[in-house]
Amino acid sequence: MKPVVALVGRPNVGKSTLFNRLTKSRDAIVADFAGLTRDRHYGDARVGSREFILIDTGGFEPDKPTGVVAEMAKQTKQAVAEADAVVFVVDIRAGLSPQDQDIARYLRAANKRVFIAVNKAEGMIESPLLAEFHELGMGEPHPISASHGQGIRSLAEAVLDSFEWPEEDEEAEGDEGRPIRLAVAGRPNVGKSTLINTWLGEERLIAFDMPGTTRDAIHVPFERNGQRFELIDTAGLRRKGRVFEAIEKFSVVKTLQAIADANVVVLLLDATQGVTEQDAHIAGYVLDAGRAVVLAVNKWDAIDGYQREMLERSIASRLAFLKFAPIVQISALKRQGLGPLWKTIADAHASATCKMSTPVLTRLVHDAVTHQAPKRAGNFRPKLRYAHQGGMNPPVVVVHGNSLEHVTDAYKRFLEGRIRDHFKLTGTPLRIEMKSSR
Ligand code: GDP
Ligand code: GDP
Repeated sequence: MKPVVALVGRPNVGKSTLFNRLTKSRDAIVADFAGLTRDRHYGDARVGSREFILIDTGGFEPDKPTGVVAEMAKQTKQAVAEADAVVFVVDIRAGLSPQDQDIARYLRAANKRVFIAVNKAEGMIESPLLAEFHELGMGEPHPISASHGQGIRSLAEAVLDSFEWPEEDEEAEGDEGRPIRLAVAGRPNVGKSTLINTWLGEERLIAFDMPGTTRDAIHVPFERNGQRFELIDTAGLRRKGRVFEAIEKFSVVKTLQAIADANVVVLLLDATQGVTEQDAHIAGYVLDAGRAVVLAVNKWDAIDGYQREMLERSIASRLAFLKFAPIVQISALKRQGLGPLWKTIADAHASATCKMSTPVLTRLVHDAVTHQAPKRAGNFRPKLRYAHQGGMNPPVVVVHGNSLEHVTDAYKRFLEGRIRDHFKLTGTPLRIEMKSSR
């Protein structure tokens, strides 16, 4: 599971600037789960090969009893609770303020690993002003400049070094016998718990240990028709006798971690509600994570023909970027559509872990060029020479040749379409990368 790091500090110290720098946020990455988490932003960050989830918070004043500020404090406290480590951002130009002292007191009581980032320190990396922040008693202050990009890497490495990282093992995705890791994602009330209980009631559960704390997500292993699966919990499920029940509210962090950890994500929509902005945010995150994805429209039993038509339109327009994802109509409650859902999940997994040989890919690329050559750009005519598979789940195709930086996005989509057709890929993104030899 990716570790979670929260940025905390009073307003205007530069938290958002730091967040943007660490996540290099493009819109698709920053899942801004609107409505649920105002004043909190979640993003994927990576330093070297180490990936983590970063939470940005609004300004924090711990002791305000009411109003917007109190709401912001509540959001921040939740973020701190969800985090494995906290980066406490302060402002060297403003100096240590009483508010900073309040925040420090709160963080000490919260018993989290804390790293002090002293921001706006461009040109002041050696400044005596830094010494002041030692007073917080939270370890060596790290001078940074979020806006100038100084000191960020060493701060991030200090934070990441404090976690345990699994040995780098080349994950043999799709190896026979390995369980398919499955996550059910969706907003609150779309029917995640109902679906999971229906599944686990029907399939053969394999004994497993329940983690002691709710911080750890549970992975439930089970078997269906000889295929092993591992369900990664997003709903804060706990077992009560034969049934699982959700014991906590929707957790963005759990959802993001489960998506990152899954091979296939079942993105659950509520047919009675249509596609909401939150659905689109979660979908955007799934896409960005490169996971295989199946859209399951739940509560199909509860809508009429007209609503079905409207729903199909709203999926086509609001989730257009998930065009590759198959859509299955289900009713978790009435146990309808579950057979087709399993089949779709298996197909998506097979596509995501499909093996594509270099000769076949190269032939596909040459055929595509014969059919329609890439456009000339000025004096350059991109020359596509050969292609090989650069990864799985999602599959990555690396095309080698010359002047490939001039290949247009439209042409990449054309190639993608031909490769998809050939390998009959469904339910997985396919990435095309261009590698020019000069
Ligand atoms: P937040 O409220 O803590 O999220 O702060 P913002 O990221 O919105 O930044 C507040 C202000 O500080 C903005 O005007 C930023 O441009 C500025 N700022 C952020 N980082 C730096 C920095 O490293 N140096 C300087 N000089 N200004 C910064
Ligand atoms: P979660 O928050 O995503 O885990 O959603 P739940 O599984 O708790 O379901 C929320 C509500 O939707 C409950 O009242 C369920 O009974 C109801 N529900 C779930 N699946 C279906 C379905 O297929 N059809 C109908 N009509 N209601 C459903």
